[in-house]
Amino acid sequence: MKYFIKTFGCQQNWADSERIAAAFKARGMKPARSYKTADYIVINTCMVRKSAENSAYGLVNNLSKFKDQNPKIKMKIILTGCMVGLAYQDKTGKYLARLKKILPAVDEFMPISEVGFDFAPLRQNNISAWVPITNGCNNFCTYCVVPYTRGREISRAYEEIVKECQDLKKQGYKNITLLGQNVNSYGSDLILNSKVKSPPFAKTTENEQNSKVQIKNQKLIDNKKIQPVYVKHLGKFRIPTLFPYLLDEVAKMGFEKIDFISSNPWDFSNELIEVIAKNANISRTLHLPVQSGDNDVLKRMNRWYTCDEYLDLVANLKLKIKNLKLTTDIIVGFCGETDEEFNNTVKLCKAVGFNWAYVAMYSPRPFSVATKTMKDNIPYTVKKNRWQVLENLINQPQLKKTKKKKDK
Ligand code: SF4
Repeated sequence: MKYFIKTFGCQQNWADSERIAAAFKARGMKPARSYKTADYIVINTCMVRKSAENSAYGLVNNLSKFKDQNPKIKMKIILTGCMVGLAYQDKTGKYLARLKKILPAVDEFMPISEVGFDFAPLRQNNISAWVPITNGCNNFCTYCVVPYTRGREISRAYEEIVKECQDLKKQGYKNITLLGQNVNSYGSDLILNSKVKSPPFAKTTENEQNSKVQIKNQKLIDNKKIQPVYVKHLGKFRIPTLFPYLLDEVAKMGFEKIDFISSNPWDFSNELIEVIAKNANISRTLHLPVQSGDNDVLKRMNRWYTCDEYLDLVANLKLKIKNLKLTTDIIVGFCGETDEEFNNTVKLCKAVGFNWAYVAMYSPRPFSVATKTMKDNIPYTVKKNRWQVLENLINQPQLKKTKKKKDK
């Protein structure tokens, strides 16, 4: 029996597909070179943009036609990933019923949680490895579907991640990327779900030195006390996270390069900056999604920082980390975005000097707060123009530089 996996979307989905492949292998199956020769076709879907969703619909339709034209072929189509995640998170059952209706060719709708972490991922690359450390997100940015597709944030056990990284080192892997939707809040659920009664960290405003806030009885494997992280640019403590400790521990294992994505500005603590600064093998290219350079838009997006706070963080990072390169995510044409608000984004981009930006035109996502309560009222042509302005400002010069280097 053979399987074929088609993956859409982010690194997290690609990492999930490696675990799906491992589960098939454990059942004695082999990968097929093409979907035409596969007994099982798994489509790992993405919903972060409408276009990604449409690609999955298109593929299922093509496979359905292929099955109709080749009645002797008994292939089974399995849908998984974000679309199925959303279907199972929707307790009314309506979204699953809708999916079944519009995708009758799909034989099974499999939640990714069914795959689990029992088998070591079947990695496609023997130099670089993805290591998922959290799944889901608690942030509820108003444009985003992820908290509805992947659910609340759940962290993998600290020891389990450390063991996986140690094994990868022994196998000769050189590069590691730690993955999570809000990677730098890793472990807050592990701590907060423990017996410890937690103070209201997010509201704490004492400065770093005067802090009396401590979590008692919490010990890491190296016996360090875990404290809420102090986020200097926000001027307050945030939930305690284990990410700086975990990153430090992985960095010391001797990999050539360690990346992590995606981090959020509000959990980018001083502790984390120090860990990066002191470990030269942690990548100097940091991905720090800003989404907009206008405070009102950020509020409408439910992003928890202002532009000044973001710029303070960037200044702090540049000060502490030599040769820093910053990449980001930006959404243009979010509900009600005026010319002035967009121009503020342009100003912020110029102030930061991003090395790359993943610029997306806003598209409403099912179940998100923006879809329910705001109007997608920016015409497509305006979104496209704004997208082009940022492409010309940030990405085109980078592409030209890369081309020049190649030509030399
Ligand atoms: S932080 Fe915001 S944009 Fe990122 S996954 Fe969570 S809700 Fe979505």
